[in-house]
Amino acid sequence: MATIYFEEKGEELLKRAGLSKAEFARRMGIKKQNVNALFKTKNLETIHRAAEVFGVPFELLVSYTSEPEPTGCVFPEPSPYEIALTTWGEVKQVKDYQMAILPWGATEPHNGHLPYCTDVILATAIGLDVAARAHDAGVEVRVLPGIPLGSQNPGQTQLPFCLHASQQTQMAILQDIVASLERCGIHRLLILNGHGGNTFKGLIRDLAVQKPDFLIAQSDWFTFVPRKDYFEEKIDDHAGEQETSVMMYYHPELVMMEYASDGASKPFAISGLREKVGWIPRDWAKISADTGVGNPLKSSPEKGRKYAQVVVEKIAALVVDLCTKELY
Ligand SMILES: [Zn+2]
Repeated sequence: MATIYFEEKGEELLKRAGLSKAEFARRMGIKKQNVNALFKTKNLETIHRAAEVFGVPFELLVSYTSEPEPTGCVFPEPSPYEIALTTWGEVKQVKDYQMAILPWGATEPHNGHLPYCTDVILATAIGLDVAARAHDAGVEVRVLPGIPLGSQNPGQTQLPFCLHASQQTQMAILQDIVASLERCGIHRLLILNGHGGNTFKGLIRDLAVQKPDFLIAQSDWFTFVPRKDYFEEKIDDHAGEQETSVMMYYHPELVMMEYASDGASKPFAISGLREKVGWIPRDWAKISADTGVGNPLKSSPEKGRKYAQVVVEKIAALVVDLCTKELY
C-alpha cells in the first residue's frame, strides 16, 4: 500500500505552484471536477505528471510504506477536447463549434528513443492544450483523430514500418475531412502539423480555390518560436533536443533515453544545396546513422514545458482570432 503525499497536500501544492484548479486540470488533461479525485490517485504515471505540473520532484509526492498496489490507468482522463475519446453525449452539449484541429504527422523512426508516431502524438497534445485555451476564451474547437501518414525522404523509407503517403493520398484524406466538416456546419480547419517533411500549402491552395468559404490554416508547431531561446543544440531537425523535450513534458512514459544516440548528421557537400540555392530531399541514410538529426541528450521535460507553453499560447491566440475576427 502506498501513502500518497498528494492526498492531504493537493490544495497546498496548487497554491504553492500558483495554479488554479482549472489550469491544473487543463495541464493534466482532465476535467476540473476530477481534480479532487486525482489527488487520491495511486497511479504512479499520473503522479509523475502532476509532479511536473507542480514543478516539484516526484519523490515529494509519494512515500511508500511498501510496494504500491498495481492500479489500472484511471488518470489522466481523456481530454474533453479530444474527439477520439469523447462521446456524442458530451459533444452535443455544445451548440456551435467554430473550428476543428487536425493533428498531422508521420510514421517513421525517431532516433532510437522516440515512438514512430511522435509527430502526431505531439501535435495532438499541443492541439488539446490549444483547444482548452480557446475554450477559456469562449471559442469551441475540438481536436480530430490525428493523421499518422506523412511525406518521407529516401533513405528513411526503407526502414521497417516507415510509411510514406503520397500528396494524392494526403489530398484525398484532406478533401474527405473538409467535406465531412462542411456537412456538419463547421467551416474552419487548422492542420496542426508535427512533421518537417509535410507541406500542405499546395493542397490548401487547391481547396481554397474549390471552396472559398471554407478556411484551412496550417501551423507547424515546431517552427515559429525560436528554438535558440529554449534549447542548447544548434542543429535540431528530427528527434533532437526540441522534440524530445516536448515529448518528455507531455508523454514521459513514451521516451526511452536508453536507446538514444547523438543524432549526428552530415550536411550536403554541395554549397548551393547547403545555402538553399536549390532544394532536393535529403537521403536520410546518407545524412544520419541513427535516423536522428540533432542531439537529444540535453533534453529535459522542463525545457519542453517552457517551449510548449509559448507554442500553445501562440496557436491558441491564432485559433481564437481566426474564429472571431475578420481576416483583412
Ligand atoms: Zn518528428
